Amino acid sequence: MAAMAAAAKLTAAASSLLLRRSPLLRPHGLRLSRRFAPQRFVRHIASSTNEEAAAKAAAATADTGGPTIFDKIIAKEIPSNVVYEDEKVLAFRDINPQAPVHVLVIPKIRDGLTGLDKAEPWHVEILGYLLYAAKIVAEKEGIAEGYRVVINNGPKGCQSVYHLHLHVLGGRQMKWPAG
Ligand code: 5GP
Repeated sequence: MAAMAAAAKLTAAASSLLLRRSPLLRPHGLRLSRRFAPQRFVRHIASSTNEEAAAKAAAATADTGGPTIFDKIIAKEIPSNVVYEDEKVLAFRDINPQAPVHVLVIPKIRDGLTGLDKAEPWHVEILGYLLYAAKIVAEKEGIAEGYRVVINNGPKGCQSVYHLHLHVLGGRQMKWPAG
């Protein structure tokens, strides 16, 4: 038992050292800050892995074009915290916010736009309008001085809901490059 505990301790210490020393994790010879402490880094990898798995699972049924959770939100069958709405778009707070302000902007009529990769010339108007709506949302949320607009596309882009949507993120300093 004691030997197993000692071995576990040694493994934890070794992985911690590895994470701290690895040139891959410490590019350009930079020291790892507390922010990138091994435990946090491992947690970050775990949550990214979950998002990737969810995105892969969602992609499996994406091309059926079936209804998504967003249809229920548009129909008000399930509640959402609406920030802005007009005849073309709905903007509501993300259930799992990644920033103090995290709003999703979606077209009320999907018209085949399960993702950005399905965009056709006749979608140009709604695509432009979604961006315009993102700007209105940013102003309403008081983050006009700096924010980020994101579209995740496909499993490699970590898209999990197949109804085109813009993420409007702000209320904190954004980092670059995005993960
Ligand atoms: P994606 O991963 O496809 O780029 O973004 C989908 C987003 O929808 C995620 O950020 C997720 O948190 C959000 N989301 C999923 N289900 C719901 C829901 O039922 N309500 C709200 N408000 N957001 C949701």
